[in-house]
Amino acid sequence: MNKSDSERILGMLSHFDYQQTENPQEANLLLINTCSIRQLSADKAFSTLGRWGKYKKLNPEIKIGICGCVAQIEKENIFKRNKNVDLVFGTRNIYELPDLIKKIESGEKICAIKDNAIKENTDFCIIRDKSFNAWVPIIEGCNNFCTYCIVPYTRGRERSRDFNNIINEVKTCVNQGFKEITLLGQNVDSYGKDLNDKNITLANLLREIAKIEGDFRVRFVTSYPTDITDDLIKAVGESDKICKYFHIPMQSGNDEILKAMNRRYNRRQYGEIVKKIRETFKDNCVTITSDFIAGFPGETNEQFYDTLSAIEEFKLDYSNTAAYSPRENTIAGKWIDKFIDEKIKKERLKILNDKNKEAVINSNKKCLGKILKVLVEGFKQNEENGKIILNSRAENNKIVHFEGDKNLVGSFVDVKINSYSTWCLFGELMN
Ligand code: SAH
Ligand code: SF4
Repeated sequence: MNKSDSERILGMLSHFDYQQTENPQEANLLLINTCSIRQLSADKAFSTLGRWGKYKKLNPEIKIGICGCVAQIEKENIFKRNKNVDLVFGTRNIYELPDLIKKIESGEKICAIKDNAIKENTDFCIIRDKSFNAWVPIIEGCNNFCTYCIVPYTRGRERSRDFNNIINEVKTCVNQGFKEITLLGQNVDSYGKDLNDKNITLANLLREIAKIEGDFRVRFVTSYPTDITDDLIKAVGESDKICKYFHIPMQSGNDEILKAMNRRYNRRQYGEIVKKIRETFKDNCVTITSDFIAGFPGETNEQFYDTLSAIEEFKLDYSNTAAYSPRENTIAGKWIDKFIDEKIKKERLKILNDKNKEAVINSNKKCLGKILKVLVEGFKQNEENGKIILNSRAENNKIVHFEGDKNLVGSFVDVKINSYSTWCLFGELMN
């Protein structure tokens, strides 16, 4: 979501003759977009601001700005922590950027933090980071208030984007040659709930996107388990353009921990959703991935082991993992007496990562002998034998390497999978 915001910010800046540079010494404006999901990412933002002080010393005309989740939370405090900062703007102030830029250019220091909904402005272009993959946000914010999570405080309540604006953005991407469209949201499957029109749902959005002519595929992340409707599962099955890929974070395999996290499902219900999806898409042709947190406050060893057994029981193809990071203002962040020792959290994270690796290898094994449709994203030439090895991504999000012509970059091809390592598959070109 932050990357997608950065693409929009870059697009807006380009309307003011700002061009991107890799060299901070040439810049007139240094802007950092920040994430605060874990303490480490927030700390990194402040250390980057600290490092940028030297550029302001060399050129006092340089402007320094910070936006995103850390800005949204810290507001004016940022000026106190770093006197070189000229601009602080929140997650809902992106479309005010033209005004904000004018103000800082005239020497003002500005902190713009909105707590209410933003009005989208589609007049600006978007400078996308990748050549073939386009991120398209469809819903912002979150209403769930999981006890560990800072997102509802940094991104506010759920706001769905206008249906037609999304369709137009996807059409533009397809016309520009983007081959993979990823619909983004903290909870994509809540799309439309705030729009008072029962026909505006993620399922219907996918159906409409699938009607767009062109050679592309679409995926969506992240889904909240109990917001996955039967109609959504059905819609995914209706078109080859929609990836059979569900990212459904479970967070913990233990019911008591799920309750303490304020997740609205238990292990059995999560399992039923996974089962329903797997039964709809036969022949192991669906990918289900998850997120898990190790060392949530009060988590016992037995409860942690329930997470490991869940990965196995639900045959999850891959999981993002993290050690619990206390976040200020969140409910669990106040349960200091239940915090798990850092050393134990690290140990659990390592065990969780090992379990995840095992699950990934099992999932890779299922791909052996299969023909996967992949999008070729780039290539490398082997220095010794000169052979071109293409790197690509399959519908199941796995990286696939195979020998082929570099002209295939940017196209979909069929690859038969012959072998694998932990993090990628190897195959041969079929067409
Ligand atoms: N909306 C999604 C998750 C978005 S946040 C969902 O409900 O599942 C992305 C991931 O960051 C979460 O799935 C969670 O695993 C992780 N995360 C969020 N807050 C965290 C914290 N305080 N400590 C560690 N991981 C956290
Ligand atoms: Fe955070 Fe996701 Fe929970 Fe929302 S649903 S509070 S984004 S973990």
